[in-house]
Amino acid sequence: MKTYDAIIIGAGSVGTPAACFLAQKGLKVIVLEMRAASGQGDNKAAIGGVRATHSDPGKIQICIESLKIFSTWKEEYGFDMGWKPGGYCFPVYDEKNEAVLKGLLPAQKKFGLNIDWIGPEKLAEIVPGINRENLRGGTYSPEDGQVSGLLAPVGFQREAERNGAEFRFKEKVIGYQRTGDQITGVITNKDKYSAGVVILAAGADAAEHGGLLDIDIPVTPDTHEAGISAPVKQFLAPLIVDIRPGPENKTVNFYFGQNKEGQIIFCYTPKELFYGTDRESQSEFMPIIANRMINLIPRLKNLLIRRIWRGCYPMTPDGVPIIDFVPDVKGLFLAVGMCGQGLMLGPGAGKNIASLIVDKKPIISEEANKFFRYSRDFYSEKKETLK
Ligand SMILES: Cc1cc2nc3c(=O)[nH]c(=O)nc-3n(C[C@H](O)[C@H](O)[C@H](O)COP(=O)(O)OP(=O)(O)OC[C@H]3O[C@@H](n4cnc5c(N)ncnc54)[C@H](O)[C@@H]3O)c2cc1C
Repeated sequence: MKTYDAIIIGAGSVGTPAACFLAQKGLKVIVLEMRAASGQGDNKAAIGGVRATHSDPGKIQICIESLKIFSTWKEEYGFDMGWKPGGYCFPVYDEKNEAVLKGLLPAQKKFGLNIDWIGPEKLAEIVPGINRENLRGGTYSPEDGQVSGLLAPVGFQREAERNGAEFRFKEKVIGYQRTGDQITGVITNKDKYSAGVVILAAGADAAEHGGLLDIDIPVTPDTHEAGISAPVKQFLAPLIVDIRPGPENKTVNFYFGQNKEGQIIFCYTPKELFYGTDRESQSEFMPIIANRMINLIPRLKNLLIRRIWRGCYPMTPDGVPIIDFVPDVKGLFLAVGMCGQGLMLGPGAGKNIASLIVDKKPIISEEANKFFRYSRDFYSEKKETLK
């Protein structure tokens, strides 16, 4: 039996930064990952958007931390995660959405977020070539940005390993060891490991572990598609979110940006959700998103698309993650239900997990941290889940 201070199940958007920050605090950490490398679960499906401009205080404070970590990572550790500052921009074409977005601003500003309403002239400067017909302006948060979902877990794994963390790939956790109400370790398809704390960061597969642990883990995956173009000359700084429903009546909103390599990376929220974990792309995605993108920025008609893919949002009923110990199962920590925002929540959540486990206190305010509790009423009110 190999013994560690902490076992992390899943080397994804949350598991890799959690390993990094726990190892930095001096814990002996092992990460068990069933796939062949870090970030090969839904992490690599993310288009890379990182913003703190949410409406939920917990997500706001965690993402403020994530932004600090992503934007300084290269300077601090010498590894480029593809960080590109440039902000987020929500263009608006109708009175109703103008009122909705303006209505969110006071609460967002109360949390110190740098976000404001900008008029159509300024917006057209920030988003060159945007369709000006009926454009009313939009919100702009210049301190948000983008990273590479492919590079971020590599950076966190390297720093975790530099601090002594171990990673085991192609190793699936298939059971838990317990003594009374205390989890003492895990069983994989290859070995057994014991530890004082087991952190479940299994993304879309979290609910399956609920079955093994005899607890309810309310995470239901639904699938979303995305794609990426060949690189073009840099022209677009912010990530754009168009919150209009599409004319085809199949999309709720769509969002895209130009990454550090110059590629346009894009995604939409389907009106009718596809529940489950089927990650096969569908033929309807590309025609729908191409129409939407060309309608918004006509010059995008010249893009060459390189590939499309499909991945999961591991959703909780209220759209807010669970980042907490489980009261009735000692030694079990849940870091699950990251919804459509796991890449941006990951570093801040990882740092919070390390602090909750080692220092017994959150890095964010206690009040904001309550939003992530396991024992909350998930059905009390619908929370914001907008990308
Ligand atoms: C199209 C699309 C676009 C997106 N865009 C963004 C975006 O712009 N910004 C953003 O923040 N988020 C985005 N997301 C959401 C983001 O990808 C997810 O929220 C995030 O990856 C979830 O992180 P996670 O660590 O919970 O899961 P994952 O990253 O999937 O990691 C979980 C890991 O656990 C492993 N695992 C599971 N069970 C076991 C087991 N039994 N044993 C061992 N290993 C196990 C899996 O193999 C996996 O590697 C997007 C998602 C999609 C699909």
